[in-house]
Amino acid sequence: MGHMASVVGNGVVSNGQASTKIRSYAPATGELIGEAPNTSAEEVRLAVQRAHRAQEAWGALPAEERGARILRFRDAIVDRSDEIVDLLVRECGKPRHEALLHEVMVVADLATHFARVAPKVLAPREIPLHLMKHRKSTVHHVPRGVVAVISPWNYPFQLPLRDAIMALVAGNAVVLKPSEVTPLIALKAKEIWDGAGLPEDLFQVVTGYGATGAALIDSGIQFLVFTGGVATGKRVAAACGERLIPCVMELGGKAPLIACADAELEKTARAIVFGGFSNAGQVCISVERVYAHRDIHDRLLDRVVELTRELRQGDPSQEFVDVGAIIFPHQIEIAEKHIADAVSKGAELRIGGERGPGPGQFFAPTVLANCNHTMTVMKDEIFGPIVPFMRVSTEEEAVRLANESHLGLNAYVYSADREHGRRLAERIEAGSVLVNDVLNNGATSDAPFGGIKQSGFGRAMGDDALREMCATKHISVDRIPMGEKDPLQFPYTEKSYAWFKKGLRLMFGGGSLAKRIGDLF
Ligand code: NAD
Repeated sequence: MGHMASVVGNGVVSNGQASTKIRSYAPATGELIGEAPNTSAEEVRLAVQRAHRAQEAWGALPAEERGARILRFRDAIVDRSDEIVDLLVRECGKPRHEALLHEVMVVADLATHFARVAPKVLAPREIPLHLMKHRKSTVHHVPRGVVAVISPWNYPFQLPLRDAIMALVAGNAVVLKPSEVTPLIALKAKEIWDGAGLPEDLFQVVTGYGATGAALIDSGIQFLVFTGGVATGKRVAAACGERLIPCVMELGGKAPLIACADAELEKTARAIVFGGFSNAGQVCISVERVYAHRDIHDRLLDRVVELTRELRQGDPSQEFVDVGAIIFPHQIEIAEKHIADAVSKGAELRIGGERGPGPGQFFAPTVLANCNHTMTVMKDEIFGPIVPFMRVSTEEEAVRLANESHLGLNAYVYSADREHGRRLAERIEAGSVLVNDVLNNGATSDAPFGGIKQSGFGRAMGDDALREMCATKHISVDRIPMGEKDPLQFPYTEKSYAWFKKGLRLMFGGGSLAKRIGDLF
């Protein structure tokens, strides 16, 4: 297990002390692959100041123009995709397909989509006022200023660039604090941005530990998009609350998958294996618990175990594998604790359950049967390659158990009857529910993505999220000249009061309009 004894996680020194540099290790080999600055609070403050200055000109550009420049960034990303994939494979130990499809491709698509729709989504809209007809109101979406993005290590290219690109298209500057576990890929994104000739201070990256993130929140930012764990999210939201900084919180998940009695066996089994073990289970929307109807449970479980046995795991820089390494070694201990707790309470370990051979950080894809809600594996986020199964007698029971969670990010329903699946989806407490598919809403840039309950608030992606990157501004202009003396202003007289009282009855009193007019005289 290579560096695990002395280092708990890429760059996190075991005594917890911050160093002046962050070290990044390859999870699949344990090799040191590079260093990044541990940015100080003062450096962060200066970065935010520079971002503010750069934002002024950028925010004044028409959305079409900003979109055109973002497409230059996208073109550079596509041109340099091999470099990005190679680094993602090394720094995260993730399979090449996942680096290409789930990171680079998603970003290229999202940039294209928002560059195209931003002019329309952010265009000023007139509101036809129902009462104050003498005035013309328009809603404008104006850039907030500097948007901070604080991100985790599991999708270290896709997640921060998703938020950064949306913030930039909307006219903001961005300062990104990537995870201390994966700083190099964020610096690569910055290098590509600069290489595309885009304004250097408009998109900046400040690498560092949590303290650098905390400093960023305290440096005069106007908005924050935070993606990370629930515990950190609470601290970060509190820091934003103290400063009244609006924020989006994208936190943990515990996605249930309900397999109905009529679910197609092979399709459902393959989806569970993919949804549970893609990115070695380090996905906020991973399949984290399966509720299988008793009519399908045994066949489904057997097939999932068979398919899991076929998975190839190893160093993705050496060969095409299905499952790569565990990016952050602490996740291996979490996985082991979940398994020990479940087995001690009667779960059956059907496959996996052990660490892979060193020197890299590997954990075998694991399937647990006979699970129930007394076990942590069914209640707390796993964020590793474990799929626990629970047999249910009815769909009612499955829905009740799916909703028995403090988290509510994603959920999945498998049923041959799509309409039935959709009706079940309506009853599940989650930000997104997919019927007969898994994970794909991480890549649908036009649909809202985010959680309820402790999975967070606010949305990444979708038109509303793009507007949320802006402050809403109402401009009201007089349409009809009202003369010098506005009856709504001073002086207050007995006569004007009587008129307004009649007006109240006329407009809002009960009965027909004819009756209300009659009552006035
Ligand atoms: P984490 O919460 O440990 O760290 C996230 C980021 O916050 C890191 O950059 C970290 O340095 C920073 N940070 C830590 N303390 C801070 C502080 N006091 N102030 C400001 N920033 C601080 O999360 P992680 O371990 O990197 O990521 C895993 C978690 O992320 C999982 O719980 C997963 O579910 C969640 N996640 C959620 C989504 C989503 O969209 N909802 C997506 C991916 C991951």
